[in-house]
Amino acid sequence: MNVSIVGGGISGCLLALKFSDLGHAVSLYEASDCLGGICRDVQVGENLFFSNCQYLNVGAESHALFKRVEGVDLFEFPHRYGSVNDLFGDLVIYDDFAQVVVPGQSDVTVSDHDNNTVAERLGAYEPVVADALLSWAKRFGDLHNLDAGNCTHMQLGRVFYSDAVERVRNTKEESPWANDMLGLPRHLFEPPLAVQAAALPAHGYNNFFDAIHTEMVKRGVMVHLQAPVTPRMISGKLEFSVRKKKLPDDLKVWCANPTALAHLVTGRRLEMPAMSCFNLVATLDIEPEGVPVYYQTFLRDSPFLRIFKYDLQGVSKITVEGFDTGRSCGELITELNALIRRMGWACKVTSEHLVLQKRYTLLTLSDKETLSLLASSLAEHAVIPGGWQFYGRDEKVKAAFSAFQCAEASSCAVQ
Ligand SMILES: Cc1cc2nc3c(=O)[nH]c(=O)nc-3n(C[C@H](O)[C@H](O)[C@H](O)COP(=O)(O)OP(=O)(O)OC[C@H]3O[C@@H](n4cnc5c(N)ncnc54)[C@H](O)[C@@H]3O)c2cc1C
Repeated sequence: MNVSIVGGGISGCLLALKFSDLGHAVSLYEASDCLGGICRDVQVGENLFFSNCQYLNVGAESHALFKRVEGVDLFEFPHRYGSVNDLFGDLVIYDDFAQVVVPGQSDVTVSDHDNNTVAERLGAYEPVVADALLSWAKRFGDLHNLDAGNCTHMQLGRVFYSDAVERVRNTKEESPWANDMLGLPRHLFEPPLAVQAAALPAHGYNNFFDAIHTEMVKRGVMVHLQAPVTPRMISGKLEFSVRKKKLPDDLKVWCANPTALAHLVTGRRLEMPAMSCFNLVATLDIEPEGVPVYYQTFLRDSPFLRIFKYDLQGVSKITVEGFDTGRSCGELITELNALIRRMGWACKVTSEHLVLQKRYTLLTLSDKETLSLLASSLAEHAVIPGGWQFYGRDEKVKAAFSAFQCAEASSCAVQ
């Protein structure tokens, strides 16, 4: 089968490798001049930094697929994380739990509640906890309009009551809903959960995507860079072109932003509220430590969301993600050095760079409906949706691949 993939981010690249493994003839169209999409590194001169904290799941099919690519060097390590929060008073630094930790509460209650929006989900905790979470989370936007599924990647999916471990264990067993709302660090499960491995490209994502590009070309995948694809509806037929040149009538897989496609096919506009974020990247004045670690931050007066410490190019580095509230790079660094000190990390930032970034990962209630309508309408146009309703890349690719299998089965049945 001839397959055209639109979008050369990690999803498009993974699918291109997968389809070519299965013997399909693949063409990949990418609007920019390189592959990788949002995974690409921040480059400051010769210095590379990870853009956000984006791990590959060891054991996932994608990991196995990438590992086989010549020139791809994946560094595997124990997945370490923690959280820092002051939402309930004093600063709590907790290893092994990357979501909100509630200290000093013994009354663990989760009311059976509507669970459609972020506001409803967070409102199901007892008032003292719900109020603190809702107040912190409102920086993400209108919580009454954001789909509850966003809680997972807002790192608000579960809460851990650190002074009521036994009560948490018991309540989790009472119902699937309570189990879903309450968290436990891995070491407090009975028996403790193993620390899983995660992976990162040893030389950064840019180098990783260069190797994947070379591999695709070697396998005969036609990779078109600087090839922005425009969808058009002509007499009820969906057509795709690059600079007015129509693409062949292959099966299409749309792994790029779905906004234009959604409007064209469903007549509805995606809301996908933009988050104005920053990536503060810096070198640290310590020797490389070997194992990366990240901490989610839930701080009332700080724009930080996540602190990620890792080694790259033989240098210890840090990437801090947060909301752009207009603070200068200097102000953010002062704040970061102070937080690092409080966390007991014996290091300081030595050279830094600030990158502003718009993120479109939040889905409203209306977006969920639009994406599902879009996915069902695309089937009749021989277009596979790129799993946009999912956040994680493995889920995105899995959804796209199973839609592809359905399309392949129905085209075989027609022949
Ligand atoms: C900060 C952050 C951290 C994350 N961390 C993780 C994580 O650890 N694990 C995880 O599973 N998921 C994570 N995610 C979610 C997941 O990584 C992303 O959903 C995934 O990387 C997106 O990859 P993609 O290829 O689908 O999209 P993108 O990376 O956005 O790639 C889309 C590509 O399409 C191209 N394009 C756009 N329009 C067109 C067009 N018209 N024609 C041709 N090309 C076009 C773009 O240039 C881009 O290269 C994270 C997301 C964010 C924002």
